Amino acid sequence: MIAIATILQSPSQRAMWCSMAEPRPVSLSQNVQQRVPPPARGDLTGCPWHDVKAKLREVGLRPTRQRMALGWLLFAKGDRHVTAEMLYEEATRAKVPVSLATVYNTLHQFTEVGLLRQVSVDGSKSYFDTNNSQHHHFFIEDKNDLLDIPAADVLLGKAPAPPEGYEIARIDVVVRLRRKQG
Ligand SMILES: [Zn+2]
Repeated sequence: MIAIATILQSPSQRAMWCSMAEPRPVSLSQNVQQRVPPPARGDLTGCPWHDVKAKLREVGLRPTRQRMALGWLLFAKGDRHVTAEMLYEEATRAKVPVSLATVYNTLHQFTEVGLLRQVSVDGSKSYFDTNNSQHHHFFIEDKNDLLDIPAADVLLGKAPAPPEGYEIARIDVVVRLRRKQG
């Protein structure tokens, strides 16, 4: 509890973090932003600390110290995409005593219960998306950066027919971008 207590030691700091719970648009242009529906937040209070506890309880995960700390780091900053390494680095900077393996495990647990969406860009590169609604992504190759595309902006000609006995669970589109050549 020491690290977390340190992070949230004063009411003003807590208020500062709580104010960061305001949903922030993450998209590309003004036009695009206006069409992004606000994320569903249910009955959450707007304070990440309480939200994290409520989120964990809602999906049946015990709010352990490590899950709370990592959940707080993940969800306090609005919609974003992080890799395990990025979150591990943030945890280390915030003096949360946690190993990279625990960060991996926690991210996968959060994904299994639907708090996060995993987005694989290459075989080896996985991002975890705090926006678990249906949407697609731009991937900027030279910056390793993932950006949201609103679902309405991707036109798929026709979804493929799934094999007998299967249905399409979801379609993930990653549109890879590079700087214009020449
Ligand atoms: Zn996303």
